[in-house]
Amino acid sequence: MSKKLEGKVALVTGASKGIGASIAKYLAAEGASVVVNYASSKEGADKVVAEIVKNGGKAVAVKANVSKKAEIDKLFLETKAAYGKLDVLVNNAGIFEFAPLEGVTEDHFHRQFDLNVLGLLLTTQKAVEHFGSDGGSIINISSVVAISPQPNASVYSATKGAVDAITKSLAKELGPKKIRVNSLNPGMIETEGVHTAGFIGTDFHKQIIAQTPLGRIGQPEDIGKVAVFLASSDSGWVTGETLMVSGGNR
Ligand code: NAP
Repeated sequence: MSKKLEGKVALVTGASKGIGASIAKYLAAEGASVVVNYASSKEGADKVVAEIVKNGGKAVAVKANVSKKAEIDKLFLETKAAYGKLDVLVNNAGIFEFAPLEGVTEDHFHRQFDLNVLGLLLTTQKAVEHFGSDGGSIINISSVVAISPQPNASVYSATKGAVDAITKSLAKELGPKKIRVNSLNPGMIETEGVHTAGFIGTDFHKQIIAQTPLGRIGQPEDIGKVAVFLASSDSGWVTGETLMVSGGNR
């Protein structure tokens, strides 16, 4: 059977670790040439590229802070130089900072909104310029908090609510150009970011497992597999959707 993404080019933002790294590996395993974007972890991005190449795939690592327009422009120039076109954009780069209401500051707000929302929009704007006449697939990595916001996470939850609204708006706007836009909304996934945030082993972690019908938190692979579906023509009649990938937790 032929691979689902043979001949396609995919750009995955924030792919040096966690969910983005898994998505990059799964897309490459289905034949896509993948641009592995990172902000600071060159070593992590190089490791993802090396693993893809070792398994017979194609990938390059490109550094760019995707909350900054000038760096996004450079990222797309390098994507074009490497592979000449673009078919799939995965807007994965994102940060999560929890804080109670009294801890909300301008910096806390702007750090998250500048990357999770503004960066996602500016990256999408650029991708649309690069998609060909066959259109493309845009996958916005949102979260279950978009529909089930957590306490002490008003700003982060708001960024993901905004992501889902953008998905639905742009699906309508870009449909005539054959560009599909979907949200992939993970539940808690065991990533480097979740470890750094100190969630693993806490009451919050146990509470998430208890309220998850499938009885565990997710692994990055759980998301990579679903990204292949949304990137490929298997989901060719699917746009403007928000797909919860959370073991049934919401
Ligand atoms: P992670 O382990 O912290 O990894 C974050 C990735 O994003 C890294 O590759 C990082 O690159 C990159 N990144 C951060 N800031 C960036 C910037 N300004 N420009 C470009 N890349 C940047 O995160 P994760 O847990 O995999 O989360 C990935 C996405 O999934 C986020 O959008 C998050 O909101 C969403 N999500 C996560 C969970 C979860 O439980 N893990 C649940 C729902 C949704 P460097 O290492 O180079 O800085």
